[in-house]
Amino acid sequence: MEESNKPVVHLISKPENMLKTIYTACRTCYSADSPYNIYEGAEDEEKMLKLIERVVSSGHYSTIEHIQVTFAISNVSRACTHQFVRHRHVSFSQKSQRYVKEKGQFDYLIPPTIEKNPELKEKFVSFMGEISKLYTEFTDAGIPAEDARAVLPNAASTSIVASLNLRELIHIANLRLCTRAQYEIRLMVKAMCDELVKQEPWLKAYLVPKCERCGYCDEDKSCGRKPKLEELLAK
Ligand SMILES: Cc1cc2nc3c(=O)[nH]c(=O)nc-3n(C[C@H](O)[C@H](O)[C@H](O)COP(=O)(O)OP(=O)(O)OC[C@H]3O[C@@H](n4cnc5c(N)ncnc54)[C@H](O)[C@@H]3O)c2cc1C
Repeated sequence: MEESNKPVVHLISKPENMLKTIYTACRTCYSADSPYNIYEGAEDEEKMLKLIERVVSSGHYSTIEHIQVTFAISNVSRACTHQFVRHRHVSFSQKSQRYVKEKGQFDYLIPPTIEKNPELKEKFVSFMGEISKLYTEFTDAGIPAEDARAVLPNAASTSIVASLNLRELIHIANLRLCTRAQYEIRLMVKAMCDELVKQEPWLKAYLVPKCERCGYCDEDKSCGRKPKLEELLAK
C-alpha cells in the first residue's frame, strides 16, 4: 500500500511550444499572415499572453483545444475516478478489476475524516480486511475476478491514465478546485494543475476554481472566497 493517502500524479506528455501554438491559433483568426509565419515569428511572451487572455476571456475556446496533455495517476480511490470519468472530453485508460486480480489485501484509501478518528479507522481497516477475505474466498472458489469485484468498495485504490485538451483541463479545474467538490478529486485535480504549472507557469491564472475567473460564487453554499452574484448585484 502507498505510504501516503494522497493521489500520485505525473504529467507524462505535453506539447513543445505550448504558448506559441495557442498564440498561433489565436493570431491566425485576426491576421492576413500565414499560421506558420505567425508561429515562426512568435517571440514576445508578454504579447502572446495578452492576446491569449483576450481571446480566451471572450469565450473563443477552440484556440486552447490544440493542446493535449496526458497524466499518469495512481493511489486514488474508485470513488474519485468514478467522478473523474464523468468528464466527457477526456480519454481514459484505467486499471481493470476484470484483468487484474487482487492478491492478498487490496490497496485502499482511507478518507481523512475517518483516518483522524482512531476508533472509526480501526473499524474501517478491519472491514477492508473482511472484504479482502471474502474476495479471496470467491476467487479461490473459481469465481472470475470480474464477478468477485462486486464486493470491492469505493475505497479500493486504482490507477488511470487521462489525456485531455487544455480547454477541458481548465473546465475541470474550474469545477473541481471549488471547495464544493469532494476532497479527493480536488486533491487529484490540484496535483494535475500543479504538475502542468511547474512547466507552464503562465497557466496558473487559468487553472483555478471557477469563482476566480468569473469573480463570484454560483454555488448554493458559498465558502466565502468570493461574493455571491446576488451580493455583487445588490452593491
Ligand atoms: C460539486 C459537484 C457535484 C456533483 N454532484 C453530482 C451528483 O450528485 N450526481 C451526478 O450525477 N453528478 C454530479 N456531478 C457531476 C456533474 O453533473 C457532471 O457530470 C460532471 O461535473 C461533468 O461536468 P460537465 O458536464 O460540465 O463536463 P464535461 O463532461 O467535462 O464536458 C465539458 C463541457 O462540454 C459540454 N458538453 C459535454 N457534453 C455535452 C452534451 N452531451 N451536451 C451539451 N454539452 C455538453 C458542456 O458545456 C460541459 O460543461 C457533480 C459535479 C460536481 C463538480
